[in-house]
Amino acid sequence: MFAKVFRIGLISVAAAALVGALVLVVAVVRGGATSATPEAGTVPSWAGGPAGPADGTPGAGSATATAPHPTGPATPSTAPTRTSSPSANERPGATRPGTRPPVVGHGPRSGNLVALTFDADMTDSMLANLRNGRVRSYANLRIIELLERERIPATFFLTGKWVERYPDLTRRLAGNSRFELANHTYGHLAFTPNCYGLPRVPSSRMTEDVARTFRLIEPYGGRQTRYFRFPGLCHDGASLSALAPLGVTVVDGDVVSGDPFATAWRPIVNAVLSKVKPGSVVVLHVTEANAAMTDEALPHILRGLRERGLSPAPLSEVLSGAR
Ligand SMILES: [Zn+2]
Repeated sequence: MFAKVFRIGLISVAAAALVGALVLVVAVVRGGATSATPEAGTVPSWAGGPAGPADGTPGAGSATATAPHPTGPATPSTAPTRTSSPSANERPGATRPGTRPPVVGHGPRSGNLVALTFDADMTDSMLANLRNGRVRSYANLRIIELLERERIPATFFLTGKWVERYPDLTRRLAGNSRFELANHTYGHLAFTPNCYGLPRVPSSRMTEDVARTFRLIEPYGGRQTRYFRFPGLCHDGASLSALAPLGVTVVDGDVVSGDPFATAWRPIVNAVLSKVKPGSVVVLHVTEANAAMTDEALPHILRGLRERGLSPAPLSEVLSGAR
């Protein structure tokens, strides 16, 4: 009898403890949920992971709120090769949206890596030259074939208008695992006054110009980045601020080859090899008619790099000092 009462007593205590524990668990879960709700609301949609800002800064928030809408041709006429994998804020060169982008000239001087970067300019007047037959091509296939054949890593800064004019070549570049793709504006307009006589993009359209170009390049997949280069490397405070919502890194380069409108290959080679160092970012062009000597200069540049113990690598590896 006593034992039975004692047992019942024990069961009641155990049951009470269980109920108490359940109440506690429910309270904890509820508490967690309520405290998480407003935080989740402040995290913008692009901040997919823990790296995203948790404080919901006005700049970051407005980046989402003012995200521009597509105005031009929405999708490339050709199917992209593969779907892009990491989201924009995980790509090489991605910076926190809402902050003025860093401007990078070169990587660490310690290793033996250098980045060969090729700009793919395209303006309305260049398109007119193609249409009326004055110019055959602004895409230098000999450069691309040489890089492919010799398995040389390279980074291509593409204008949106070049991508629209050469979708098949863009797909070919995106399909090469050694090539990175970066942004060089939509139509190669100047972002500052007095930039090599280039027509200017209005200040109010700078952000959208660059955003639109990312939207054009991204469907091609491959090694997408958030690297951006201004036409003529011309930038000022206003143009850098205009890029703040986009979360990019501005890449100038420290070795300007001078290949546009060159009439001989030797000065290009000399310009590159006299300035190149570990960590260098070399600025070249893949725009055939406007840079007709670059493909002739390239084998000499590659040989010179080898002789100096320097090794071409994708821009992201050069800037991070990998290897
Ligand atoms: Zn350019």
